Amino acid sequence: MRIISISISLWFKLLNGLKRRGEGIRESGGFLLGKPGESKVTKIVFYDQFDKTVSESGIIQFKGAATFFEYLAKEKLEVLLDIHTHPTHDTRQSMSDMKHPMIRIRGHIAIIAPNYAQNFFIFPKQCSVYEYLGNFDWKKFKTSKMPIHLKLF
Ligand SMILES: [Zn+2]
Repeated sequence: MRIISISISLWFKLLNGLKRRGEGIRESGGFLLGKPGESKVTKIVFYDQFDKTVSESGIIQFKGAATFFEYLAKEKLEVLLDIHTHPTHDTRQSMSDMKHPMIRIRGHIAIIAPNYAQNFFIFPKQCSVYEYLGNFDWKKFKTSKMPIHLKLF
């Protein structure tokens, strides 16, 4: 299991982006990207940059995959994680979350943040983190074995 690092400023920007998009009434989400083979997040993008209607129903329904993969190829970046918000402190995966991995690759990691990210600050350990095992099966990480480190730089 690799440890993914993200600067505190980028994490804060991510949370603010989720908060602003969710407005306390709908789920929002995005991808954390890095250079191929590296495990440092260098860029964050939000689902609505590739699919304007992604949060229209209140829950995430992403139809921007084709555009998004074109963007990744053009920018020479790869997905390290995806993140989306849930309405309350309940950050367990929904049936829809389990059945629709944003990236269908074994080992892909998905994070769920609480309270539509409306809190002033959310630490990674307040989120749930899941690893995709293939066949719509997931493994939840224990808080003590969190694969994401916040780095101050
Ligand atoms: Zn969900």
